[in-house]
Amino acid sequence: MDTSSLSDEDPLFVALRDLISANHILHYHGVVDAYGHISVRHPLHPSQYIMCGYMAPAMVTSGRDLIAYHVSDSSTVDPDAKKGYSERFIHGEIFKRYPSVNCVIHSHAEEVLPYAVSMGVTLKAVYHMAGFLGSRGVKVFDIDPLYREGEQRDMLVNNSRFGAALAEKFVSGAEMQSPEESVVLMRRHGFTCVGRDIVTAVYRAIYTRINAEAQTKSMVIAGLVPGGREVLRDEGMGIGFQALTEEQSEGCTVMNEGFQDKPWRLWVREVEKQPLYYNDLR
Ligand SMILES: [Zn+2]
Repeated sequence: MDTSSLSDEDPLFVALRDLISANHILHYHGVVDAYGHISVRHPLHPSQYIMCGYMAPAMVTSGRDLIAYHVSDSSTVDPDAKKGYSERFIHGEIFKRYPSVNCVIHSHAEEVLPYAVSMGVTLKAVYHMAGFLGSRGVKVFDIDPLYREGEQRDMLVNNSRFGAALAEKFVSGAEMQSPEESVVLMRRHGFTCVGRDIVTAVYRAIYTRINAEAQTKSMVIAGLVPGGREVLRDEGMGIGFQALTEEQSEGCTVMNEGFQDKPWRLWVREVEKQPLYYNDLR
């Protein structure tokens, strides 16, 4: 995308600048590696969204690396745009389904993967920084039943049909206009999270990863303590960990959204100081 005519205060400039930083932050904090991606809804044209082209998030540098897509079908706004991600339909279909969502992140973070693979163990909010995960347990989307005869079963959400089905997993009723879930796991694949803006979505992605690590370690520790698992199970707390209650989860979500600007400023500074990352718009 051409940013040469934009001033520092232009909403599009701000969105693109923060999108590039967010790509770096997600890499720095282990949410993405060479795979995984983040998108933002166009601040002036809500029927479009923007994400980087086919490249590792850490390598995104300038507006030239970014591509605008139509929300309607995830086709490029510029017919001559370079190659993009095959999984952009995750983003396009979520933006189409939920007008209140302005940022989408998709990740294969290794700390979260066990919860997208294991059967019978649910990812839950286990500490106050992850209240947004809720107390019911994070839902799991399974692409496998959606495959038709002859389709390559590579687990990628690479068409509108798969993207729409994933988007639907964020609510419990077809008539709902806003997502009830902030995060949905993807069976044998990873997870996708949403937010009203870049800061909210990045916060959720990073703390989903940290929360998963904390839950895993809690379960391991409980397994090492004689009777540890049984005590928690008897109290209905889960297998070796104490999840937030519904009231705690709701309270912590309000707190999270009130304070997430503080880590964002730190995260931006961190990646500015790392020689791996360049952001031409900062
Ligand atoms: Zn993926």
